[in-house]
Amino acid sequence: MNPIVKAKGLRKAYGSFEALKGIDIEVGQGEVLCIIGPSGSGKSTFLRCINQLEVVDGGALWVCGELVGYRRVGNKLYEISEREIARQRLMTSMVFQGFNLFPHKTVVENIMEGPVQVLKTPCKQAEAAALELLARVGLAQKCNAYPIELSGGQQQRVAIARALAMKPAVMLFDEPTSALDPELVGEVLAVMRDVAAAGMTMIVVTHELGFAREVADRVIFMDRGEIIESGSPGEILKDPRHSRTREFISAVLK
Ligand code: ADP
Repeated sequence: MNPIVKAKGLRKAYGSFEALKGIDIEVGQGEVLCIIGPSGSGKSTFLRCINQLEVVDGGALWVCGELVGYRRVGNKLYEISEREIARQRLMTSMVFQGFNLFPHKTVVENIMEGPVQVLKTPCKQAEAAALELLARVGLAQKCNAYPIELSGGQQQRVAIARALAMKPAVMLFDEPTSALDPELVGEVLAVMRDVAAAGMTMIVVTHELGFAREVADRVIFMDRGEIIESGSPGEILKDPRHSRTREFISAVLK
């Protein structure tokens, strides 16, 4: 089966600093990939390239078989238009550390916004779908609340529902629990576990090694812009081959 995300020699630099130094990976349909690694290792940059929040500098990236950001004509690559970028971006949905909900809209309006404005879904249909998603993340009773009235964990569950409402081919999570108080982490991980169990393809940057062990099909460890090792959660988290992976895991578990 064709991969949902494929990167080949993917490079990204900020000025002379290379944040990604040639990433090669394929993520299959329904796969849950967890990315771990120290701060500054390029994890978020990789997600941002997939979501086209960053322009790739070298190598190539495909989402759902489409070359991201470029069109090939013969042997030449041409940058695609903003409109085409916006269309490609719909194949992915990103959940950020900081929730990023619209503060002046209610929870249900937050979830309806993308489907109505971007996908042109009729309001009634978008509302019904939003209420269903809210029930799925356990927040049906909060549909008319404003984000400020919710805890961080609840806001993040709404953000996940909002991302799901766009029916992406792949969900990208960038440290979705890092900004939460410890007692609120579990409820967000539980929702992510459900999303994974429903068969969604997911790429998750996280320091939650317990989640990675339990839910990931594959874990990769990144350091200084490279994938240092990749394998099953058992291989990477319990029996890593590389000393940098071992050091990182013992530091996180401390
Ligand atoms: P991680 O997600 O692993 O913490 P990032 O992908 O956020 O790492 O960042 C990788 C490196 O790229 C870091 O050294 C960071 O400082 C640098 N970086 C990220 N974004 C920018 C930017 N917009 N401009 C300059 N440097 C950046």
